[in-house]
Amino acid sequence: MKKITELTFNNTYRSLPGQFYNIVDPEPFENPFLVAFNPEMALGVGLDVKEADRQDIADYLSGKIRIPGSEPIALYYTGHQFGVYNPHIGDGRAVLLGEVLNPDGEKWDLHLKGSGRTAYSRQFDGRAVLRSTIREYLCSEAMHYLGIPTTRALCIVGSDEKVEREKTETGAMLIRTAKTHVRFGSFEGFYFKGQYENLEILSDYVIENCYPELTDLKDRFNLMVVEVARKTGLLIAKWQAFGFTHGVMNTDNMSIIGDTIDYGPFGFMESFEKDYVPNHSDHFGRYSYNNQPSVAFWNLNKFLQCLSPIVNNDGIQEALKCYKDSYSEHYLELMTKKLGFSSFKVGDKKFIDTTMDILEENKTDYTIFFRKLSNFSPGGESETALKKEMGKNWVLEYINRLKQEKSDYAERRDSMNRVNPLYILRNYIAESVIRKAVDESDYTDIETVRKLLMNPFDEQDGMDRYTKPAPQWAKGLIVSCSS
Ligand code: AMP
Ligand code: MG
Repeated sequence: MKKITELTFNNTYRSLPGQFYNIVDPEPFENPFLVAFNPEMALGVGLDVKEADRQDIADYLSGKIRIPGSEPIALYYTGHQFGVYNPHIGDGRAVLLGEVLNPDGEKWDLHLKGSGRTAYSRQFDGRAVLRSTIREYLCSEAMHYLGIPTTRALCIVGSDEKVEREKTETGAMLIRTAKTHVRFGSFEGFYFKGQYENLEILSDYVIENCYPELTDLKDRFNLMVVEVARKTGLLIAKWQAFGFTHGVMNTDNMSIIGDTIDYGPFGFMESFEKDYVPNHSDHFGRYSYNNQPSVAFWNLNKFLQCLSPIVNNDGIQEALKCYKDSYSEHYLELMTKKLGFSSFKVGDKKFIDTTMDILEENKTDYTIFFRKLSNFSPGGESETALKKEMGKNWVLEYINRLKQEKSDYAERRDSMNRVNPLYILRNYIAESVIRKAVDESDYTDIETVRKLLMNPFDEQDGMDRYTKPAPQWAKGLIVSCSS
C-alpha cells in the first residue's frame, strides 16, 4: 500500500483530444479538514489507510497540494436534462484528478466533486455542500454493498467556506471513485456538433478501458452499444428491486458501464408507492420510481441516436432489444428471489405485480415487508398475520407457489435474507447523520452508518434503530436538486 505521494497514475483520458476536457486546477479551501475517510476504498485504490492520519492529508485530497502524478481535468459532456438537450453541461464543479493504478493493476478514477469553478460552470459556484457530500458518500457505499453497480467514495473533505444555497451552508468536497466517468452525455455533444470522428475515438477509448474483450473486433461499436444496453438493463432492474429511485435520470447521469452515478435527490422507497418522486424539483414526476425503466430506455435511444454515425441499424435494434430483455430478466429474477422462489416460473410475473399492488394499497414499508416475509411459514400465527396484511387470496397463492419449491423453511429464509436487506439508507437516517455533522461538527455517525451499511443483510447488535420506518419528524423530509 502506498503513501499519498507515491500513488501510480495512468491518466489515459488526458491523452484524448483537447475537445474531451479542459485542464484546470481545483480551487482549494483555505482550511480543509478530513470529515470522512473510507478505508475500504483506500485499499481499493492502493492507498495506505494510515495515510488518513497525516496532518496534510486533507490538503492532498482536496487539491490544495497536487498529488504527485495527478493531472486534473474537467470532463466535457452534454446531455438531455428532463427531456431537453443542454449543450452546456460538463464537469462544472468537479475535476478528474487522475486515474490511479492499484497494486493489482486496476485503474480507478479519482474524481473530486465540489472542487471549484471550471470552464463548464456556467453561472454556478463550482461547489458542493457538506449535506450533499454525506448523502453521496453513504449512499454510494450502501449501494455497493447491496450489490448494485455504482461509483464509490474515498473521502469527504470539509471546510468553513460559506456556500449559498436555499440557505447558507458550508462547502465540502468528495472524492468519487469509479472505473470510468464516461457517460451517455460524453458522446452527445460530438454528435450534435457533427464531430463524428470523436465518437469513434471515444468509443475506442471506452472499449479499451471498459469492454476490452471487444477490442479489434470489426463490429466492435455495435457490440459496445449492446453491452451498454445490457448493463443499463441490469442496473435499472436492481434499482427497482431494491426500491431505489435516482431522482435525476438525465442522460449525463447515465454511466457507460451501468454504474449508478451522481447522487443527488435520490431516495429509497419506504411506504411502497409506484409514483414515488424523491426529487422535490421534479414537478411532473418524470423520474418517478415506476418511470425509471422507460426513462432508461428513452435515454438509451438518445445515446443510440448519437452513436448512429458509427453504429448500424442492426446494432441499434439489438441494443434496444437487449435492454428490454436484460431489464425484465434481471428484474423478474430478483423479485422471484425476494419472494423466496429459487427460479422464475410462469405465473410469477402476475404474482409479483399483484404483490406490488397490495403493498401500494396498504402503504406497506417495502424493505421491511420483504425482510419479514423470510420468517413466514405456512400455518399458525404467521399465516394469520400475513393474511391480515396481504389478504387471504394472496397468502393462499403464495403458499401454493412455495409448495413448488424444493427448499425447506430454513434454506428459504437464508436465501431470502441474502436479497432482502435489513438496513438501507433511509432518508431520515442520512438526515440524522447530516444534522449532527452540520449543526454540531460531529462526524462520528458517518462512520457508524457506513460500517452498518457494509453488511446490509446481516443483523448487527445494537443497530435495531436503523431498521425502522421514518419517525414522525422525518415524514415530510424533502430533497431538492440544489446540492
Ligand atoms: P447534476 O444535476 O449534479 O447532474 O449537475 C448537472 C450539471 O450542473 C453538471 O454539469 C454539473 O457540473 C453542474 N452543476 C451542478 N451544480 C453546480 C455548481 N454548484 N457549480 C457548477 N456547476 C454545477
Ligand atoms: Mg450529473
